[in-house]
Amino acid sequence: MEPFTGLTRGGTPWIPQFVTRIIHERCIGCGRCYKVCSRNVFDLIEREKLQDSFDNSENDEEMEDWEEDGFEDDGAMVMTVVNMDDCIGCESCSKVCPKKCHVHAPVTRDKVA
Ligand code: SF4
Ligand code: SF4
Repeated sequence: MEPFTGLTRGGTPWIPQFVTRIIHERCIGCGRCYKVCSRNVFDLIEREKLQDSFDNSENDEEMEDWEEDGFEDDGAMVMTVVNMDDCIGCESCSKVCPKKCHVHAPVTRDKVA
């Protein structure tokens, strides 16, 4: 299946790389990606609350990683994806992140409404 492809102003095709998740174990909560994103995709959340959301999710693999890393309730803030569908795939978040936290992927045309 063909990836969804955009065009530059000059008509050159480019493939948007949409954010799919943040690797929370690396995040230091600096807020750079939040500031640079023009689409309100992110929000800061307490690490403890994020852990609670894993408890209530079906994402067992991420929960296991979290437990193995031994994170404790330290009151730290981490960035999370709250509005994935508004992402335009510009990758600005990755360019400013000092910890390489963001995971991106193209979407196929059948996934675009
Ligand atoms: S790729 Fe662009 S639009 Fe998407 S989350 Fe990152 S900065 Fe925001
Ligand atoms: S730029 Fe990276 S380290 Fe900073 S808040 Fe965003 S994901 Fe976390």
